[in-house]
Amino acid sequence: MSCNHDGNRLLAICPACDKKIFLHNLLQLEASKLTQTNGSMVCVTLLHGEKPNRHALTLFIDANMKVRSTQVSTAIIVSRK
Ligand SMILES: [Zn+2]
Repeated sequence: MSCNHDGNRLLAICPACDKKIFLHNLLQLEASKLTQTNGSMVCVTLLHGEKPNRHALTLFIDANMKVRSTQVSTAIIVSRK
């Protein structure tokens, strides 16, 4: 059974909370945009973690849907309840 395109694909481990990030965590991501980047990477920023420890996590994803780098912003304070 091929799992390459289902939502359970593991993308990365969050450096802030060590939780796994799966493809289904990025529901807003439009895969078609990734294939139009001509080799450059797409930055995807999401709010991650459970309150009160939410953090802004940015993934740098290449055209093969591989996460090349992750970055947690320390400049954004997530206060939404
Ligand atoms: Zn996290």
